[in-house]
Amino acid sequence: MIVKFVLQDELEAQFQRELYESATKDALTSLFSKRYFLDQLDVEFNFHKRTGKPLSMIMCDIDFFKKINDSLGHLAGDAVLRDLGRTLFNILRKGDLAGRYGGEEIIFFLRETPLPGAVTFAERIRKIIENHLFIYEGKKIAVTVSMGVATSVSGNFNSVPELIKTADDFLYKAKQSGRNRVVSMMTQG
Ligand code: GH3
Ligand code: MG
Ligand code: MG
Repeated sequence: MIVKFVLQDELEAQFQRELYESATKDALTSLFSKRYFLDQLDVEFNFHKRTGKPLSMIMCDIDFFKKINDSLGHLAGDAVLRDLGRTLFNILRKGDLAGRYGGEEIIFFLRETPLPGAVTFAERIRKIIENHLFIYEGKKIAVTVSMGVATSVSGNFNSVPELIKTADDFLYKAKQSGRNRVVSMMTQG
């Protein structure tokens, strides 16, 4: 009887763990799900408002991802996303959070990080991805990303959506100005 209860407890605990993982993590990239990311971002934004410490946001999107799917197939695209997720996860610091925001869009927040620090981090990501060897079925796949960076500091943003929108606008500018680049308020001068 005791053995049975212990086993049941273990199964229950494993079930709860899996349930939690599936609600918080994106299965393909292993980064956080959009919903979990946004929940955490709300907490972080409130902390930032209370303490006045800067909060930076990076919106990142794979360049010409459709081409990878079209030329090598959807499974190759999936493999790139999986590898990208793992690579990005490995370079995060404590307190940074990355989530899958859309199909091939990754979003980050960096707590207590001013704009220059966030731009440096984004530039590091850009170089790491550009130089990372993505391989699918023995074929090398060239992958680059573009990023938009925005920082909430001294009350310049009143809400999370405003901050995300600004990072997204800068991402759009990075795409327009040639891709494989980082654009922020700093770039704009
Ligand atoms: P840009 O440089 O302007 O971002 O060009 P792009 O081709 O990356 O952008 P676009 O938005 O045209 O294409 C994004 C593609 O991402 C289209 C969609 O089919 C693909 N995609 C989205 N989610 C997944 C996924 O989970 N797996 C795969 N393989 N492809 C995905
Ligand atoms: Mg893209
Ligand atoms: Mg996109």
